[in-house]
Amino acid sequence: MTAIERLAAALQPLGDLRRAEPLARHTTFGIGGPADLFLTVRNSQALAAAARAAADYQIPLLILGSGSNILVADAGVRGLVIENRARAEHLQGTTIRIESGASFAAFARRMCRRGLDGLAWAVGIPGTLGGAVVYNAGAYGGCLADVLRRVQLQLPNGHIEWIDAADLRLVYRGSRFTRGELHGRAILQCELELTPGDPTELLARAATYDQKRLTAQPRGRSAGSTFKNPPQAPAWKLIDAVGMRGMRRGDAAVSEKHANFFINHGNATAADVRWLIDEARRRVHQQFGITLEPEVEFIGAWT
Ligand SMILES: Cc1cc2nc3c(=O)[nH]c(=O)nc-3n(C[C@H](O)[C@H](O)[C@H](O)COP(=O)(O)OP(=O)(O)OC[C@H]3O[C@@H](n4cnc5c(N)ncnc54)[C@H](O)[C@@H]3O)c2cc1C
Repeated sequence: MTAIERLAAALQPLGDLRRAEPLARHTTFGIGGPADLFLTVRNSQALAAAARAAADYQIPLLILGSGSNILVADAGVRGLVIENRARAEHLQGTTIRIESGASFAAFARRMCRRGLDGLAWAVGIPGTLGGAVVYNAGAYGGCLADVLRRVQLQLPNGHIEWIDAADLRLVYRGSRFTRGELHGRAILQCELELTPGDPTELLARAATYDQKRLTAQPRGRSAGSTFKNPPQAPAWKLIDAVGMRGMRRGDAAVSEKHANFFINHGNATAADVRWLIDEARRRVHQQFGITLEPEVEFIGAWT
């Protein structure tokens, strides 16, 4: 038996296991080739056990939240992809402990309804709590770092530990995860501290953010902002200025409505989207001397 077959046997009791699962079904872009093994887990114990098994058998591991910030290669991902659907939540006063596969937007709205302040800005952000930690998700002047106290991590050696949010070095759309310093660690749970607020006022504030999003952002399959905003100017302005608003490559396009959103109009390939990303970077660098840094993460077997 190969290592991957032995891993598949070990994973069987932990959740729903599939082979050669197309990741296009699990990303907001609707793009991405197959994962060798694809396991859906529904609690953080199963997530920890599956991550540990991948380490034991030395099989590459990707933990997938909602796939809302990734561009997966057309050739897919080798090894194991764990789809994280661990969603249990425990609330004590203003402290909330929540598993990392919970929907961030739904959680934020639930907290507004309960009269807990600190996450109204997050009601429209797709993705899981785990993904939100990795990128320090944020919008409208707020970010996760403002309310995150600590996270529970599964280490590659099998140990589980809580670490303080300060030790994740959360910055604008980044953390020690995005810098590759926590490779192989799975985020199992998060602990957040909110403050008491008025549910009516919080829901009204959330509604203004919903409205802003509807007005500014395009519909269609995307991964949100393609590039981080450099200090000099918003990325959309730079992409617009180099003549790429509305540009198409196959079924991939730069949005007419918001030039930092790249859209899959139906059957776009990862290569099509990547071409547009590279072209935007090339043109912006050539014209303005600014290097755009992708916010979207490239995942899998790129040639
Ligand atoms: C329409 C749209 C609007 C958006 N608006 C915003 C916005 O306003 N602000 C913002 O910040 N972002 C925004 N985004 C981007 C995206 O929603 C966030 O980056 C989100 O936090 C990603 O979470 P996810 O669960 O989808 O992560 P995924 O895309 O599934 O994964 C991203 C990375 O995190 C890692 N990861 C995920 N879970 C774990 C875990 N439990 N343990 C370890 N690693 C993990 C993955 O391995 C991968 O490297 C938007 C996206 C879309 C599609």
